[in-house]
Amino acid sequence: MSWERQISIKSSRELEIMRVAGQINAEALQAASDAAIPGATTADLNAAAEAVLKKHGVISPFYKYPGAYPYPTSTTVSVNEELVHGIPGSRILKEGDIVSIDCGAFYEGFVADSAITVPVGHISNLAQKLLDVTEKSLYVGIEKMVVGNRVGDVSFAIQDYVENQGFFVTREYTGHGVGREMHEGPQVPNYGTPGRGLLLRPGMTIALEPMVLVGTPATRVLKDQWTVISFDRSLTAHFEHSVAVTENGPMILTLLENNEKPGRKKVEKV
Ligand code: MG
Ligand code: MG
Repeated sequence: MSWERQISIKSSRELEIMRVAGQINAEALQAASDAAIPGATTADLNAAAEAVLKKHGVISPFYKYPGAYPYPTSTTVSVNEELVHGIPGSRILKEGDIVSIDCGAFYEGFVADSAITVPVGHISNLAQKLLDVTEKSLYVGIEKMVVGNRVGDVSFAIQDYVENQGFFVTREYTGHGVGREMHEGPQVPNYGTPGRGLLLRPGMTIALEPMVLVGTPATRVLKDQWTVISFDRSLTAHFEHSVAVTENGPMILTLLENNEKPGRKKVEKV
């Protein structure tokens, strides 16, 4: 995969379109996470997300994404040791699992890309800590997405937070620019050096996505040629938002309209 990719600067109008794409994506993730109950299959979660995309008349950029063979579904659903790119299918979720759902939405020529990891029923203290640390690391990184900072400031913030909590970040998969294409420049690793790398400018949009592992930073790919697992089969988690760099600070494009985080229980409106 070449990372000599174009970096695109979006206008405020284009950011509005991406925000709509992001809303749809967040709604799809919410539906998939609501379906993550013991006894459900990973295909059930994909179906729940796909129903939302279909309702809005959008497709996922994941579908037919080029790889060893075209990616077969609209989402990736990755359980426990599966870090990313799990293909939804017959795997049955059981109490205590954690499941990562990654989805994309193509809307009026722009892509939103976001992911969450959610518990299936009651989970272990270690699994809960992993979810908390991974989600927090995403927000720690987003806070650094301000004009004048560099990619290395964002990357380092994620790595530093995660490693101080005793977990590992992957070296092999990274965040990325997002816009008319799902994967644009710049590449944004989850590890790095402060003050290094590309300068962040207003109108850049980046899919920031910490991928965190309990036992090792090493991964391997399963025989299906897509699913990435932790090398030691320890637990993993993945959170992602598409975020714009603006003069007014980072703007998360993939939050639900009421600012509710995808994957969390809905707050009753009074
Ligand atoms: Mg994604
Ligand atoms: Mg991504």
